[in-house]
This record gives sequence, structure tokens and C-alpha cells, in this order.
Amino acid sequence: MYLAFRIFKFTCETIGFIKNLHGSDKAFIANEKCTSCGICARVCPVQNIIIENEKPSWKHRCELCLACLHFCPVAAIQMGSKTAKRGRYKNPSVTIADMKKQRGE
Ligand code: SF4
Ligand code: SF4
Repeated sequence: MYLAFRIFKFTCETIGFIKNLHGSDKAFIANEKCTSCGICARVCPVQNIIIENEKPSWKHRCELCLACLHFCPVAAIQMGSKTAKRGRYKNPSVTIADMKKQRGE
């Protein structure tokens, strides 16, 4: 019985996560380090970011790939309070041009 409850709970949480995935970008902010370079908008595979008033604005079609966060050259993008002290990683073999190419540009 307990196992069935655990499976039910996990299923509900997973469905809830998927349902809310696109809006998960509400947690993103670009802090004062942002230089308005636009790289975050260029690497987003689903074109979820536009630069408005010299800052990125997320449009709630997010797939939570975290490319924007990791490609930002000055680590200006934060996801809530969780990423402030975390490092950033970008595969050195993947360029911004590669990221654009994958979305047909
Ligand atoms: S990549 Fe970073 S510095 Fe460039 S516009 Fe986006 S948040 Fe700002
Ligand atoms: S996490 Fe990925 S899909 Fe979401 S806005 Fe950033 S680059 Fe785009």
C-alpha cells in the first residue's frame, strides 16, 4: 500500500513538473552584471528570450536546458537564489554559432 502511494505521489509530481516546465523561467533574472550582449537570446534553442530594455526577458516557453545561464559570459543570469555561488559550465567544443545552427539559423 505504501509503495502504491509512493508511485502515485511520484507520478503526480512528475506530471506537475512537466505541466509547469515552460513557466519555470519565471525564476530567471539577469542581475546588474548583464552587459546586454544578447548571447542568452542567441543560444536559447526555443527562442524563449528577447532583449527588452537592454535586459533578457523570458517568454515562458522554456525547456529548462539552462543554456542561457551557462553561456552568459559574465554569469549574470541567476535562477532564484540557487545559482549565485554555483559555477558555470559550457562545453568548450560548442560555439554560439552551433547553438544557433540547431534552431535552423
Ligand atoms: S548573456 Fe548575460 S550579459 Fe549577455 S544579455 Fe544575456 S544576461 Fe546579459
Ligand atoms: S533554460 Fe534553455 S530553453 Fe529555457 S530560456 Fe534558457 S536557453 Fe531557453
